[in-house]
Amino acid sequence: MLVEVALPLPLPRTFTYRVPGVVRAGTRVRVAFGPRKLMGWIVGAGAESTEVSKIRDVDALLETEPSLAADVLELCRWVSEYYVLPLGQVLRTALPAVLGGGAQIDEPARTRRLLRLTRELPSLQEREALFQRAQRQRELYEVLESLGGRSDVAHLTTQLGFSHAIIKGLVARDLAQLVDERVERDPFASMPRQAPTQFQLTNAQQAAVDQLRTRARARVRERPFLLRGVTGSGKTAVYIELLKEVVSNQQRGAIVLVPEISLTPQTVARFRAEFGDVIAVLHSALSDGERFDAWRALHEGEKRIAIGARSAVFAPVKDLGAIVLDEEHESSYKQSESPRYHARDLAIIRSQLTGAVCVLGSATPSLESWHNVKQGKFELIELPERVEGRPLPPVEVVDLRTRARPSTPTALPASTILSQRLIHAVWQRLDRQEQTILLLNRRGYATFVQCRACGEVWHCHQCNVSLTYHRGRRRLVCHYCFHEESAPTVCPRCASADLSFRGVGTEQVEREVIETFPQARIARMDVDTTSAKWAHHDILGRVERREIDILLGTQMIAKGLDFPQVTLVGVVNADVAMNLPDFRASERTFQLLTQVAGRAGRGERGGEVIVQTALPSHYAIRCAVEHDYLGFAEKELAERATPQYPPHVRMVNVLISGTNEEQVHHEAERAADWTRAIIESAVQRKVVVTGPAPCPIDRIRGRWRWHFLLRSGSANAIGLVCKHLQYRYEFKPGNAELRLILDRDPVSLL
Ligand code: ADP
Ligand code: ZN
Ligand code: ZN
Repeated sequence: MLVEVALPLPLPRTFTYRVPGVVRAGTRVRVAFGPRKLMGWIVGAGAESTEVSKIRDVDALLETEPSLAADVLELCRWVSEYYVLPLGQVLRTALPAVLGGGAQIDEPARTRRLLRLTRELPSLQEREALFQRAQRQRELYEVLESLGGRSDVAHLTTQLGFSHAIIKGLVARDLAQLVDERVERDPFASMPRQAPTQFQLTNAQQAAVDQLRTRARARVRERPFLLRGVTGSGKTAVYIELLKEVVSNQQRGAIVLVPEISLTPQTVARFRAEFGDVIAVLHSALSDGERFDAWRALHEGEKRIAIGARSAVFAPVKDLGAIVLDEEHESSYKQSESPRYHARDLAIIRSQLTGAVCVLGSATPSLESWHNVKQGKFELIELPERVEGRPLPPVEVVDLRTRARPSTPTALPASTILSQRLIHAVWQRLDRQEQTILLLNRRGYATFVQCRACGEVWHCHQCNVSLTYHRGRRRLVCHYCFHEESAPTVCPRCASADLSFRGVGTEQVEREVIETFPQARIARMDVDTTSAKWAHHDILGRVERREIDILLGTQMIAKGLDFPQVTLVGVVNADVAMNLPDFRASERTFQLLTQVAGRAGRGERGGEVIVQTALPSHYAIRCAVEHDYLGFAEKELAERATPQYPPHVRMVNVLISGTNEEQVHHEAERAADWTRAIIESAVQRKVVVTGPAPCPIDRIRGRWRWHFLLRSGSANAIGLVCKHLQYRYEFKPGNAELRLILDRDPVSLL
């Protein structure tokens, strides 16, 4: 028969080949393409019109059963259409690397060479002394620690990039040894499983469960649900009850999406407790082999629930009965590289394809979802109160502009970062042996370094951003391209040694906290302390076991954590995200504050929140302080009405980048004009172009960046313009190194 084959090529079309007999769509094949051999997928029947003499036979069928289920294939077609990308490229990202040709499948459960820690280093001082000149060895040591003390050598070298020399170094120092062992392929199988929690559902939970269960039993294709439940209202229990119906009673499958799996170990643990044997955890720290095993277990129906971050929306779950997307407002559901899909939209599409019940949950729903509720496209379910009648924590504002500085010397040195109010509140917690969370959404020690004499600010030579000072490493680091250089001692322009380190980051807060509360046990959680793949797990485990008094960090600590002993949340500076040139700045700020405040008072002892801000009257902060989601949503929807921003319109960010500033600017003008012409002729002016202009960060990694925006009330019209741009637009001759990126429904315009 003739078949349509999708190939991972940057071409907007599929190709026709011939196969012996009948082969089902979704089957992986190898074909000749010109002089090359490529791997591709049969995605349907071949086109009759193709000139028969030119059709080639497929080289080989790579599997007897299709690796792509029909619904996943359909989902990929949708992604290919909507985000305007060749189907073959989408398919490659939808499948585990081993099936995309990207890596080697290792044999199941074979013997492996492992590196195992032999010594614990409980004290930080010892660790620092030991690894002073061996930063990579320290990283390796800490990776191993976070992996439970051992890991596959091949994984360490190929996936995590440690050299054999580093490994040997650690062995030579008697900190680790190499052993051969049979390895458990599902790393979660060997982790202890907690017992399911037993409690009486609240009335609101019960009502939510009834509604979802009824829907699941009806097996109809219907609107998605938005579950808006305040922090601590017990949304997870609702998801679990839905899955009991779908998985345990109906014997169907389910997908649970979480924003970042390493940040939500408690949620994962609760699902494992309930559904242990049938759950596949698609953790980002899995090796290719482990990931493939999880994929295969789902594909073969051995496991029926997939839990994971955004890419789990493609999981080969059979007979899908439910998709849950927790914390649906999280921007990490949007993939920042091609294909730039949003897992929330894909969850909805996949549920429509399969008839699965789709539940999006959040205490602070995205304005897109809220808009959809108001338009009647989503069905709203609410959990307006916390479980066991616990109140939401009172939130107190400390105005950073008027904060009185103590005029007389006190017993404590006056902190410039923590207000007396916040310091006092932390002391109380330490006295009562309760826990505190401190949030500052900015990493490093100082966000920029400036010469006091001439005003010079240190910038990245590749990106138009200031370099962040990391005190621990004594380096200046670019957070966009990871360029590093040693910290300056004198100004290269005027030779002054009077340098100021400005803009407080988490590292500085940590130092301040250590100095202010010398006896407290402190952990910092941000990108810099969690580079080891299971490090989050480790830190959060210590908080859970109450080995930590104060947990401080970036937005990582604001998500989904449920620690009943946390009775104080302090926000060191609420305004960090507010001043970003992005139309979602207020929404982000509101969400972050509400979410982090929601970590307080989840136990019987109650809790309180202290927010330090220089913008106490801004509506994003005011509404967060008052736990007023509806007030915020209304105000923000009005703000986005003129000029129009999502959710009132569809938007595409068209980005052009290149190494020559002049060329990039020119091409951006040309592309915008070209687009305007297309709109005139093809879509009857239903799409509006704004720009071009330099991007807010106009240079990253040495590439200049310009952009323009497409806006439209019509998804079809804007999609058509995208297709023209993606497949028809040609750069001016000589501009071949330029790149054009279409970001449909962008979550950030930086
Ligand atoms: P949310 O995700 O809405 O913030 P969680 O699902 O994390 O809330 O639940 C908060 C806490 O309340 C968890 O520790 C959970 O075990 C507990 N919980 C959930 N439902 C109930 C209930 N009906 N009665 C008592 N405790 C509950
Ligand atoms: Zn200077
Ligand atoms: Zn840089």
